[in-house]
Amino acid sequence: MREQDSDVIIVGGGAGGAELAVRLARAGCARVRLIDQAPTHVWKPRLHELAAGAARGELGEIRYRDLAERWGFVFEQAALTDIDPTAKTIALAVGEARHERDYRVLVLALGGVTPDLGVDGVAEHALMLDRSPDAEALYKRFTKALDDAAAQTPPRAAQVVIVGTGLTGVELAGYLASHADVVARADTTSAQTLAIHLVEASATFMPGFDDAPTRRGARTRLEGLGVTIHTGQTIAGVEADGVVTEDGTRLDSDMTVWAAGRVGPPLAAHDQRLATNDKQQWRVGKTLQSVAHADIFALGDCCVHDDNPWPATAQVASQQAEHLAPQIMAYLDGDTPKGFVFKDKGVLMSFGDGGDLGLIRGPRADAIRIHGHVSHAAYRALERQHQWVLLGTRATVEGAAGDFFDALRARHA
Ligand SMILES: Cc1cc2nc3c(=O)[nH]c(=O)nc-3n(C[C@H](O)[C@H](O)[C@H](O)COP(=O)(O)OP(=O)(O)OC[C@H]3O[C@@H](n4cnc5c(N)ncnc54)[C@H](O)[C@@H]3O)c2cc1C
Repeated sequence: MREQDSDVIIVGGGAGGAELAVRLARAGCARVRLIDQAPTHVWKPRLHELAAGAARGELGEIRYRDLAERWGFVFEQAALTDIDPTAKTIALAVGEARHERDYRVLVLALGGVTPDLGVDGVAEHALMLDRSPDAEALYKRFTKALDDAAAQTPPRAAQVVIVGTGLTGVELAGYLASHADVVARADTTSAQTLAIHLVEASATFMPGFDDAPTRRGARTRLEGLGVTIHTGQTIAGVEADGVVTEDGTRLDSDMTVWAAGRVGPPLAAHDQRLATNDKQQWRVGKTLQSVAHADIFALGDCCVHDDNPWPATAQVASQQAEHLAPQIMAYLDGDTPKGFVFKDKGVLMSFGDGGDLGLIRGPRADAIRIHGHVSHAAYRALERQHQWVLLGTRATVEGAAGDFFDALRARHA
């Protein structure tokens, strides 16, 4: 079946794609179709909270169909399986069924995945944190590991190994460490204890972050939660019950989480017609148009600009969505789109009971380090900003008011 009823097709309704669909629809772009393989949108920077036991509802999960109805675009739940840039069609899979769609402009916003880096045993034995179902599977495995270790005679600590000290690895370590405390306090009859090992191949903890005090602050918070940090240790193999490093060190593990970086979506790896780099990301120019086909734009983790390797963050994806909405409208009218410039506003991290930490960059790249309540408020504000784009003012104000009263209650508890 082939349908021709969209000017703009956006594939991927994540941090960037969902914002772009709403922005285009709100700006009056009439025929926008958003396609995602999942029925609901969850803001990915909070996936580690889902993995540590938060309910989907707590994470502000939104049904794409509700969003589409509210702003007047079309949502279709399907997986992109092929792109034909010459015919200007895409192929979609819905279960066993196959469809084709025509586009005038295609926007690829498929995000990225964690690469196994060719390390033995990762695919078989390690968990990754790329999507909501991964987070839920991770939580099940985590609670089973805690229960099984506590049921041993004598009871022992559950061993968790997390590989990689990017945002995913460090925030997950903080939340799992915090969660184990909660379980132990709530159920005084069990002796659940937990040992978390966070392993980094580089000699530097959190090598992707250039601010040494922020790295030190994150390390102190994690160590305060009892997390053991190993730097300069490259994992050579993952087994069912442990990991082995290149120097032969073995760490026992009831659960291994692989969070060693990010590459583009698997589809890009098999794609011969659109230009990609060695991290399976689609190559785009300054205007975020594919270097191979001007009708195809890309944003977020799935794309790369050769001269500006933007970090794989929601901040980048969101700024690109804001930039692209008017540029795509202009392009449909025959104008040349303007180039995207990333404004680095810093980084915010949350470690559960270990607190929050951040670095805010001002307009002249001057940096302010924040922590405690201020950092927590800024962390939540980032998500509120995303919700403001998706839901509009009223729902966001209600949510922000909820946060405020929660914080007040927590202070007076
Ligand atoms: C645990 C964790 C913590 C993080 N913390 C932070 C943080 O504190 N700050 C920050 O800025 N960033 C953070 N990030 C990174 C941030 O989440 C990503 O950079 C951001 O979500 C990328 O946005 P995106 O729009 O490119 O893709 P995504 O948000 O990944 O969305 C991609 C969408 O595409 C859909 N999709 C994928 N393949 C297909 C297909 N074949 N067909 C149809 N649909 C498809 C997916 O279902 C998904 O909805 C964190 C990430 C993780 C995992």
